[in-house]
Amino acid sequence: MSLSLSRRAARTVQSEIRVMSIECEKIKGINLSQGVCDTEVPEPVREAAKRAIDGGINSYTRAEGLAPIREAIAEKMRRFNGIECDPETEVIVNSGATGSFYAACMALLNPGDEVILFEPYYGYHLNTIVAVEAEPVYVTLRPPHWTFSPEDLERAVTPRTRAIVINSPANPSGKVFSRQELEWIADFACRHDLFVFTDEIYEYFIYEGEHISPATLKGMRERTITMSGYSKTFSITGWRVGYTICDRKWAQSIAYFHDLVYVCAPAPLQIGVAEGIRQLPESFYGQIAKEYVQKRDLLCGTLKEIGLTPSVPKGSYYVLADASDLPGRTSKERARYLLQATGVASVAGSAFYHDGGEDLLRFCFAKNDADLEEACRRLKVLPEKLGAVLKSRA
Ligand code: PLP
Repeated sequence: MSLSLSRRAARTVQSEIRVMSIECEKIKGINLSQGVCDTEVPEPVREAAKRAIDGGINSYTRAEGLAPIREAIAEKMRRFNGIECDPETEVIVNSGATGSFYAACMALLNPGDEVILFEPYYGYHLNTIVAVEAEPVYVTLRPPHWTFSPEDLERAVTPRTRAIVINSPANPSGKVFSRQELEWIADFACRHDLFVFTDEIYEYFIYEGEHISPATLKGMRERTITMSGYSKTFSITGWRVGYTICDRKWAQSIAYFHDLVYVCAPAPLQIGVAEGIRQLPESFYGQIAKEYVQKRDLLCGTLKEIGLTPSVPKGSYYVLADASDLPGRTSKERARYLLQATGVASVAGSAFYHDGGEDLLRFCFAKNDADLEEACRRLKVLPEKLGAVLKSRA
């Protein structure tokens, strides 16, 4: 027998986003490829975490997380999402929404189960499904408004379908699912008896439309696994604090699988997040959307001006743009061309499709204003550089 990686490992590839971040670092470019969110961490969150460290909250926590954060999350779910949940039995604190999805898939999916995924998709969703040996089945959203129909869902279902993934607001399309679309999904999930995994990490990043948690729709409470976290809302992507809300029937096993990989989310940081939820006023969350809509408009305006027509997102902090005029046969080549020509890193559209996306690039606008303005300034050299390419070909 020769040594080799597992079959599972062979099916998962390094994220194109990390690859572009490394390339960008090499040339000291501006990284609009990764959702790192380098805006400031709110003061109550930072201060409470520091106090927790100094006060000795540095040990493992219960698998479900510390009581203050579970209570704060349950209260927030009632107030903001319209979901009543018991902080003792229906809230699990995770190492980010990433930890939540992984643990939920481990607890609820069997190898060979089919999981419906809208594409363009978030790569971690796909790779997590693959890592637990379930099978992704794609429903492709139609640009420019990323629409789908109930018939698209029916075409994707088979006797092996066990779950469907929703991500609203979505990465990378910026789609905010409408009430009607969510009701189609709810009706579909009930008729076929499916779990619904809903990733709501961008719930406060909405510029048009409203955030609706699928668990609030008819027939959905028991089958819905609601996943979110504070990486984006509090700009703490490196802290790893997220959560799962679900029926108590599933919660214990999800907590157990999370424990197995992560043990717990960092204890003092759980306290920092709990205090942030408790102390920050409603206006803080409203301000997020106000601040990010300006970033969106700046970036989308620039992309339009330089001929990379954007599909203007209704939510999240990404934009997909049409890069079909850039040199290159694939979206990876186009992303590399753009990085070389302007010093701005984006992600190849193919990273979000099982087969396609070659005309698209994704840009992230979760940047502080100075960096985003500099990125836009650099992008504006593109028409001139492209003109030179065209001339040299003539
Ligand atoms: N879900 C989506 C759709 C994301 O885009 C991201 C980060 O880019 C995450 C989850 C990661 O969330 P967390 O940091 O809570 O693991």
